[in-house]
Formats: sequence, structure tokens, C-alpha cells
Amino acid sequence: MDPTGPWAALEPKLAATRKRVQELEWEPQRRNSFVPYTVDRDSAHADAGGQRCLMMSGYSYLGLGGDERVIDAARRALSVYGTGCHGVRALAGTIPLHEELEEEVARVANREAAMVFSSGYAANVGTVGGLVGPGDTVFIDKYDHASIVDGCRLSGATVSRFRHNDPAHLDRRLASSSTRGVRLVIVDSVYSMDGDIAPLPELRRVCDAHNALLMVDEAHALGVIGATGRGIEEHFDNAVPVDIKLGTLSKAIPSMGGWVAGHRDLIAHLRYAARPFLFSAALAPASAAAGLEALRILQREPERVTHIQRESERLRANLTTAGLRTGASSTAVIPLIIGSDEATYDYATACRREGVIGLPVVTPAVPNNLARLRVAVTAIHTKADIDTAAEAFRAAANTCPALAG
Ligand code: PMP
Repeated sequence: MDPTGPWAALEPKLAATRKRVQELEWEPQRRNSFVPYTVDRDSAHADAGGQRCLMMSGYSYLGLGGDERVIDAARRALSVYGTGCHGVRALAGTIPLHEELEEEVARVANREAAMVFSSGYAANVGTVGGLVGPGDTVFIDKYDHASIVDGCRLSGATVSRFRHNDPAHLDRRLASSSTRGVRLVIVDSVYSMDGDIAPLPELRRVCDAHNALLMVDEAHALGVIGATGRGIEEHFDNAVPVDIKLGTLSKAIPSMGGWVAGHRDLIAHLRYAARPFLFSAALAPASAAAGLEALRILQREPERVTHIQRESERLRANLTTAGLRTGASSTAVIPLIIGSDEATYDYATACRREGVIGLPVVTPAVPNNLARLRVAVTAIHTKADIDTAAEAFRAAANTCPALAG
């Protein structure tokens, strides 16, 4: 690229990225980001550049990514509706499958109504932007997902951040806010980099005390927490309701798409107010069908959820006994907290040598010196896989100067 003329102003940004990537991924064995993986359809193994590895960093919590029933449903949708919807939902983009999917989401979320977007990211940006604007205030947990943060920025509302999982700090933030408009509190049900759960009962009390709405992002909770995988409300015995529930169809549900569920009037409003819903093409037929089928399987096969919960517990216990730091995790997401970005890349490389993929998450996705591998247990991991993974993570730690001893 010619670093002169109109490109010159961009060059410092490109150079900074080049430098950072070179520092972290300077030799082929150290390449950990953007490596293409071909994951088996019926096991937790994957081909990583010719090496067969046990995948321990996938998001397909229910293990349905290669499920024949889900694939068949997608195939049928392709043959009936074709590959795309050729427009936005409001302009000839809606197919009957979208409505069926929305009814199923509402049923699983235990709400009057739901609507689907073409991604979880779009669901957050659209929902936040459809609910708040200038004159309103959004209160977000410091570790909330980037799509919530971006939704807040685009909305033009005032944004107030509170300390992670700290309802007392939220209480002070709300108490000192002079907003007369909407007060919207947004948290992740399960935090994607830490695997801890939002303290729902305390958050609800604080919201009620300050007349605030409470919205949760169930991206890592649906199919993962609660006795039958229904998410954070079920985790707290359905005793504490939230006002707005949102999630994705790209993790436990092995498709693409996002959703929001709530009161009928709320969803009716969002259909006309959520810009990514209004101005971006409708969810593709095969994705809608795969999402719908997987939601049905989730309801019929709760043993998948029990398996995830039991094996996560076992893996976490094994790792902590081996001296690895798993932070505040209590779900299927188990961080292995290493420290510096470089040490984390070295540890991921050592794990790969042991035949296990644990992907590094470094700054700015996590705070300085809290870089980690983001490990996740899914329903496709057998007990033997979990034992193999625990042993490999332990053995890899012994070969890493930053961790050994
Ligand atoms: N919310 C959370 C908490 C997430 O982790 C993610 C994806 N990483 C999203 C929203 C966005 O979902 P999607 O990938 O479907 O756009």
C-alpha cells in the first residue's frame, strides 16, 4: 500500500496493529488468533492447520453444531425459501419461519412476545437505541459486552458505568443521577470472559428502589444456566423477574441471529424503532430454521444442560487443584487467568502442543495483566475429553516459565 496521499493519515493505525500482531504472533507456532479450525460434527475435536486437537474454546454450548436434526431443518428451509430474504423485515423480507421462530423464542424466554435480528450484536444495538436517547440514562456494568456499549454510544443517551457485579455501586450511580427520562440498567447474565453470573436479586432491588428498568443479555446463559437452561431467571428459581431479555442464536443455539423478548407493547415498539431491524436484511431462512430446531431440542433434551453444568464443575475443580487461576467463574465459561498478553500467548501455544485448543483473550478485551485463555465446556465434551483437557492444561503450565512452579 502506498503510504502517501490519502492513505498517509491511516498509516499510523495500520502500523500500530502490525507491530502488536508481530509482537504477539511472531512465529508460526505462536499464531493463535484467526487460525481456521474445522470442528468435527460429532465430537469436540477439530483440525487446526493439519493438527488434530481437542477444542476447549468453542461457544457451541449445547453441542448441537453438527446435529443432523438442525442441519436437516436448515436444508429444508433452503429448499423452500432459498438462500436469502432479499430485504428487510418490513419490506417483503419476512417469511413464516421468522414468525414461528419469534413465537418459540418468546416461549423459551417465558415472555409475551419476541423479535429476532440478524445477529446478537444487532439485537443489542437495536434494542438499546430503540429504548433510550438523549435525556435518558443507561447504567452498564463495566464488563458488559461491546455490543451493549456500542448500542449506548449510538443511542445518544447518557452512559453511566458501575463496577463489575457491584449492586452497591450501581445504587450510588442511580442515586446521584438526575435523569428524568428512562433509566435503563443493562447487565450480562453470564460474563463471557469471566464466567460469573450477575447478582440478579440485588440488582432487581436496586432498580426497584430507583425506578429503573432491568435488561439482561443472555448470550452465555441460554442453554447454560438454570435447571433446564432457560437462563438467569431460572438460575434464581424464577423468583426475580427482569424487564427485558435479550440473547443470541450463535452460541448454545448453533446458528446466527439475535433476539429480544418482553412485554407485547415493548416488542411492538421495537419493530418500528430498532434501526438494525428496520434497515438491515432479515435473518436468512436456513439460520432461522436452524435456530428454531435447536430451541426445540433445548426444551426436549434438558440433560444436555445438566451435562454442561456437571462437567464444568469437574473441570473447574481439577484446574484449581492444579494451581490454575479460574477467577470468579461458576458456569461453563472458565477463564485460565495468566497475566501478561505475551505469557498468555505462550501458554496457549504450549496447550496446543499438548493437543488442546484454549484461545487467548488479551487486552483490550480484558484488563491489563489479566490476559487469559477463555475455556468453555459444552455438551459434546465427554467425561474423557474433560479429563484430557485438565491434564493438558496442567502439563502445559509446567512448561511455561511464567506459570511453572
Ligand atoms: N452479547 C454477548 C454477551 C456476547 O458475548 C456476544 C458475542 N460474543 C454478543 C452479544 C453478540 O452476539 P453475536 O455474535 O450473535 O452477534
